[in-house]
Amino acid sequence: MHNLLKAEEGYIIPATFMLSSGGFRISLDRKEPGSDIDFVSHAHTDHLAAVKHSEWVLASSQTADLIAGSYGLKPRVPDGAPVPPGLKLLGAGHMLGSRQLYVDACDSGESVVYTGDFQMQDSRVSEKIEIPSSDIAILDSTYPDPGVHFGDRSEVERDIQRWASAISRSGIVLFRAYAMGKSQELISILNEAGMAPVVSERIAAVCSVYKKHGAKLDYLSTGSEECDSELRGNFIGITESGADALPVALGVVHAKHVFTAVVTGFAKMFRFDTDMQFPLSDHADFSQSVDYINATGARKVFTYGNSAELFAANLRSSGIDARPFTEYQCTPSI
Ligand SMILES: [Zn+2]
Repeated sequence: MHNLLKAEEGYIIPATFMLSSGGFRISLDRKEPGSDIDFVSHAHTDHLAAVKHSEWVLASSQTADLIAGSYGLKPRVPDGAPVPPGLKLLGAGHMLGSRQLYVDACDSGESVVYTGDFQMQDSRVSEKIEIPSSDIAILDSTYPDPGVHFGDRSEVERDIQRWASAISRSGIVLFRAYAMGKSQELISILNEAGMAPVVSERIAAVCSVYKKHGAKLDYLSTGSEECDSELRGNFIGITESGADALPVALGVVHAKHVFTAVVTGFAKMFRFDTDMQFPLSDHADFSQSVDYINATGARKVFTYGNSAELFAANLRSSGIDARPFTEYQCTPSI
């Protein structure tokens, strides 16, 4: 068995991204050898490594539906015990179905919360974040830099509405956004201003799962018949990230100017090759992460992800006892 304590000399074994509690070893958004339960925080692809071969996926019903609807995979859950005692799934505010994992008592006796990707501000199409009191917090490091601030989401939303409404009089408007999560948020923002965008079939497939779980989204799919007449005018479109050649192709086919925009938190850090970029993020920025940690009352913080080292160092500069998760090995509790 393993638990979440720093290894003593002579006991170091390969680090695993797991918690141990109540006789279960629980992997966190990845497949680890020897795990009994594989927690999947949400349906973005970089969190799904365990799904294909896991015997026991622990995830929200919305996440399971998104995985099935978008990737054709059916996560396995044993009959009768979807959430073992001592574990809780709490809203993470990142996208539909995103959850944190809270463990009452790890084998070390400490309570632990693992955030997955999380967002502190309210978003239109995901459940609110719930913040538990916890001894230890394990945090996502997507935005480790204290210099990156995401302002009030409603201001960015208004900027998107104003720009799309004005510029669509002069040509086609094409937004680029993640197919899952950000696109549905963008549809809701455009709908509020009376605009129903045309979306790719892949985005439409995700939208249908969102609608099943109560989201109100008005859009046209490129695969639908009604779409044809819409495409003759100055339509507003949303396509998933990566479709870089599409604006040129659309401009040629429709003989119109195509105005482009990207919607992502990374717009705060990078210049994109688009006419406009809107910094709408579904992650916490650094100061929101500090707010989160303070709200949990955690005495120890572990960071994970690509920027784990930098994030931990910046948290320590703010007086928080933080270390990258990998610095903490698992000790056998024999
Ligand atoms: Zn995510």
